[in-house]
Amino acid sequence: MIKAVRGTRDLLPPETALWNFVEATVREVFRAYNFQEIRTPIFEETQLFARGVGEETDIVSKEMYTWEDRGRAASEKGQSLTLRPENTAGVVRAYIEHKLGDRGLNKLYYIGPQFRRERPQKGRYRQFYQIGAEVIGPASSGSDKPVRDAEILEMLATLLDRLGIRNWNLEINSVGNAQERVAFNDALRKALEPVAASMCADCQRRATTNPLRVLDCKVPEDQPIIEKLPRITDYLQEESTRHFADVRALLESAGVPFQVNPRLVRGLDYYTRTAFEFTHGALGAQNAILGGGRYDGLSEALGGPPAPGIGFAMGEDRLVLALQEQTPNIVKAPDAYIAPMGAGTNQAAIGLAKALRQAGLVIDLGDESFRLKKSFETASKLGARFILIVGENEVRSGEFALKNLATGEQTTVPRAELAAKLQAS
Ligand code: AMP
Repeated sequence: MIKAVRGTRDLLPPETALWNFVEATVREVFRAYNFQEIRTPIFEETQLFARGVGEETDIVSKEMYTWEDRGRAASEKGQSLTLRPENTAGVVRAYIEHKLGDRGLNKLYYIGPQFRRERPQKGRYRQFYQIGAEVIGPASSGSDKPVRDAEILEMLATLLDRLGIRNWNLEINSVGNAQERVAFNDALRKALEPVAASMCADCQRRATTNPLRVLDCKVPEDQPIIEKLPRITDYLQEESTRHFADVRALLESAGVPFQVNPRLVRGLDYYTRTAFEFTHGALGAQNAILGGGRYDGLSEALGGPPAPGIGFAMGEDRLVLALQEQTPNIVKAPDAYIAPMGAGTNQAAIGLAKALRQAGLVIDLGDESFRLKKSFETASKLGARFILIVGENEVRSGEFALKNLATGEQTTVPRAELAAKLQAS
C-alpha cells in the first residue's frame, strides 16, 4: 500500500475546519493593518536560499529539498532548484523583481506550505505550513522605524487573542546590525575557544562557523556554559540601543506583554536588530508558534535596492495543534438530511435541497433507493439535526415530515415554511 511520505500528512476533516478558521481570521486581522496577500512559487533557484537564508544555517546546510533540473537541451546543464524552506527570501525576491517598493506595496502576507528535511515529530513536519507577513520598503517609507516592529508585534498579539490562543509568551531581543554582530561574533568565538570542546557536537561546529547559533542550543549540559557567554546587548551601539528601547516603549504603550531574552537568536542569518519569538506552553517540545525579526540588509544581499524590513513566520500546524487542545470541534452539523422515499422522489428531493441550501442551510441528500432504516442510520452518522422525509405522498401534498433527531419530535411542515422552521430550531 502506498502511504503519505514520512514527514508529510493529510489534513482531514473535521480538522480542516480549524485550518479554514485560522486562515479566515488571519486574513481579516491582517487586512485591518493594510497587509495584502502575495503568493510566490513553491520552488525557486537554490541560490536564493543560499544567499537569503545563509549557507551556514541548518536549513540550507542540511534540510533543503534540492535537485538539478533538466537542461533545455540534452547537453545543457540544468538549474539547481529547491522547494522553498521558508518564504521571506521568495517575498523579497518578488519585491525586487517587480519593484514593489516603487508601487508602494510595502506590506505583504502569505500563507502556504514550506519544506524542510527535519526529523519528524509532533509539531514538526517535512511539509508544514507557514503564515507570514513582511513590511519592506525604502527607508523613506519608514520601514526601518521602531514603530514598524512594534506594530507587527501588536498585530500578532491581537491575532493570537482573536484566534482564542491563550497563554502565549512573547520574547524579544536585539541582535544588532551587521557590524555589531561582527564584533559580537568575534567576542563569542573568543569566549568559546577554551570551552567549546566540552560542548555538544553541533556547538563545537558552530563555535567556529556561526558562534551566534551556540546561544540557540537546547542541550541541557551546555546551558551553564552558555549562561556565561557575552551578551549581545553589551555590543550594541547607540542607534541599535535606541531602536530596541523605542520598540520596548511602544510595546508597553500598546499593551503587549513581553520579556527580553538576551539569548534569543534566530535560525536565519539575515536578521538585524529586533528578533522575537512567540511560544505556547501546551505544545511541548515544539513550543515555538512563530518567530521573526528585522532584516535590514536582505534586499541588498539578494542584489536589490536598500529596503529595510521586518517580518515573521508562524507555524500554522502548531497554531492548529494549540487550538485543538482548546476547541476540539468547530464543524457545524448538517441542518438536515433529506431522505427521498420511493421511485421518482429524487427529483423533488434535489430541488428541495437546492432551495434549502440557497437559504443558507447545510443539507445532505440521500437517494430514493435507500430504505427508511438506512436513511435514519445515515442521518445520525452524519450528525444531522433533522431528517426530512420526501415520500411520494409528501411530494403530492407539498407537506413534509420533519423529524428532530435529538428530541425525536416529528412535525408536518409545508414546503414554503421548511427553511424558516430549520433556521428557527
Ligand atoms: P522559522 O522559519 O524557522 O523561523 O520558523 C517559524 C515558525 O514556523 C516556527 O516557529 C514554527 O512554528 C514553524 N515551523 C518551522 N519549522 C517547522 C516544521 N518543520 N514543522 C512545523 N512547523 C515548523
